[in-house]
Amino acid sequence: MSKRAKVLIVDDDPLNRLVLEKTLKDEHDVFLVDSGEKALTFVKTTQVDLIILDVIMPGIDGYEVLVQLKENPITQSVPIIFISANRSHDDEAKGLELGAMDYITKPFSPSIVRVRVRNQLLIKQKNDLLEMLASIDGLTEIPNRRYLDENLSREWRRSKRSGTPLSVLLMDIDHFKRYNDCYGHRAGDECLKEVAQVLAAQCERGSDFIARYGGEEFAAVLPGVGKADAIEFANKIRSAVNALDIEHKASLNADHITISIGIATTESGQIYAEQALLEEADLGLYAAKDEGRDRIIAR
Ligand code: GH3
Ligand code: MG
Ligand code: MG
Repeated sequence: MSKRAKVLIVDDDPLNRLVLEKTLKDEHDVFLVDSGEKALTFVKTTQVDLIILDVIMPGIDGYEVLVQLKENPITQSVPIIFISANRSHDDEAKGLELGAMDYITKPFSPSIVRVRVRNQLLIKQKNDLLEMLASIDGLTEIPNRRYLDENLSREWRRSKRSGTPLSVLLMDIDHFKRYNDCYGHRAGDECLKEVAQVLAAQCERGSDFIARYGGEEFAAVLPGVGKADAIEFANKIRSAVNALDIEHKASLNADHITISIGIATTESGQIYAEQALLEEADLGLYAAKDEGRDRIIAR
């Protein structure tokens, strides 16, 4: 591991906690709690990389803690290793079936615990990397269409549930075919990268994101943002692309690269269906093109 991992140990037996801590503290940052309840509270405020979980504890037991961790999107992918005096195959099978990554029986060998923890952390690291690579567009290095679809869907459901607004922007580079024809496909790729990076840099709130929608089209998803603020954000984007000042002699609306933007917002009393939100933004984009490009149309 490149950086030290955070390992949470959950065990009601003080001696076990002590031995596990001693076993792991040279390699990892170790945190200790003595009950399932405290474990669930702890993970609300601290992001951990792995949990070693005792099965039999007073109050809520390890199985129940695991079920609750799996139900929470924040903790569902944290690997959990059960540690238990229950040596029966049935207990082990139950733990693994519930979603634990490994099962260690007490009394345990410190060297085996060390290796098993290391293994699970490596698997987690590789899974995270795969997940990240599968969500990133190879050319522009910003989130891709797959990421957009998954996250827009989640934000849409959240907005519907909570009644908070959600804005979507569709953005399309103006006369980009002519750019390729004039400067070559390689230069076109470089231009796409530059534009994508400047778009991504405009997302200052953690909940906003911009993805490559396809070709020279991008989408922005702005949870909690109403129409007026979405227009302000789009203006910021349009200005930032203009400020890049990438020469485009062949453009029919400017002498540099510009972008057109369509905006759709769901607000109380005006709820579009999830797909309709993108379609509405697309209609706005189409109108922006029609009215001369390098402009914003909010639906
Ligand atoms: P408009 O202002 O109406 O959007 O005109 P446009 O020329 O930008 O639109 P059109 O859809 O006709 O052309 C899009 C062009 O974008 C054509 C395609 O070759 C180019 N393109 C799409 N993806 C890439 C890419 O990954 N790299 C490069 N270099 N060009 C791309
Ligand atoms: Mg275009
Ligand atoms: Mg296009």
